[in-house]
Amino acid sequence: MDNCIFCKIARGEIPSKKVYEDADIFAFHDINPQAPVHFMVIPKRHIAALSEVKPDDAAVLGRMLTMTGRLAREQGLPDGYRTIINTGRIGRQEVLHLHMHVLGGPEPLGRMMPRSSA
Ligand code: 5GP
Ligand code: ZN
Repeated sequence: MDNCIFCKIARGEIPSKKVYEDADIFAFHDINPQAPVHFMVIPKRHIAALSEVKPDDAAVLGRMLTMTGRLAREQGLPDGYRTIINTGRIGRQEVLHLHMHVLGGPEPLGRMMPRSSA
């Protein structure tokens, strides 16, 4: 996708703080971190959202999931982390290239869902 910001990051056309890269996935720190450690894992191939995945995408999705433990440990998260995939309008997905957030820090994170509607 020519105009997709995360495709451009995966191609190296927009700079990012890279965490990991292989043939299929790319991981980089979030520009606006919501926790002491906050990076994202994306497929290099453009997939708009989790709701759009096809059976052929199973391998790359599996790769994204199976890499999180190692990447989180390497980023200083030995005791766990939270993964989030926001999807579509209801999920408040802002960047329309599938991405999995990985968040953590030295202390347990806040509640998964805030009780307010903000
Ligand atoms: P979403 O709300 O779509 O799940 O999350 C999009 C995330 O992408 C946000 O946390 C935002 O800070 C991050 N983001 C948006 N633009 C850029 C960028 O150009 N570089 C990096 N590293 N992160 C970005
Ligand atoms: Zn894209």
